[in-house]
Amino acid sequence: MDLPDTSVITCKSCGSTFRGNYCNQCGEKVIKASERSFKTFLNNVLISITFADSKMIKTLWLVLKKPGFISKEFAEGRRVNYLNPTSLFFVLNLIYFFFPLIQLFNASLNTQLLSPFRSFYQPIIAHKIVNLGMELSSFSLVYNLKTTGFAKLMVMIFVFIGSLPLNFLYRKRNRFFTDHIGYLVELACFNLFVNAIVLSILAAFGLGRFLNEEILTTVFISTNLYFLLRSGRVFYGERGWRLFLKAGLMILFLKVALEVYRAILFFVTIWSL
Ligand SMILES: [Zn+2]
Repeated sequence: MDLPDTSVITCKSCGSTFRGNYCNQCGEKVIKASERSFKTFLNNVLISITFADSKMIKTLWLVLKKPGFISKEFAEGRRVNYLNPTSLFFVLNLIYFFFPLIQLFNASLNTQLLSPFRSFYQPIIAHKIVNLGMELSSFSLVYNLKTTGFAKLMVMIFVFIGSLPLNFLYRKRNRFFTDHIGYLVELACFNLFVNAIVLSILAAFGLGRFLNEEILTTVFISTNLYFLLRSGRVFYGERGWRLFLKAGLMILFLKVALEVYRAILFFVTIWSL
């Protein structure tokens, strides 16, 4: 282990002087000779290829095992030991959109035609198909390609809408507006991993035929209840029947947030074609 050097160092990025391993003005790290070795270089390449940084694994594991804990750590200023949940969210988002087999934050034309607003969508789609002079099958192909691209960028809209009810459900809990958004980012990470990536992998390995609409709904509701009950206690300090009531309400709000997000996604996609 390297002991911190007590000599005064001039920062290579901002020019200020300091003692120790990091610049206290801009945060630049002092690079030692050992860190420029080939072994360290290979290690860094491995981390950037696999995203499997130890902080990321640890953070993801805590999101699964102890929901709400990471949000609490971040809200209360203990951050250096974890990957920022927003970064985790973007990494998981990237992985999910390589193979978005499970329709969660992605919504194909078929999925949109099952939405509660479908009777409203049908004439819009019919009109668009006539305008473009396309067959339904080729239109569907173009639509799905476009909408996947938009979904990847727009999924933050779901996070924002989903966090709004928390402002009145937990308004007395000494949490700020941005804390609620941070908490929803953690919930989105949980869902991206459990209900999008893991389920997509299972579907890819031939379990798709078991994953019908009823099973998926049951999985979504039970995993989110697990998250909301545990995190409601850890992050908001809620207990007893109020915890159950608020978790139940949040399930409904999340469903609404998902449908509103998908509706926005539909109109943006249609408008772009
Ligand atoms: Zn500096």
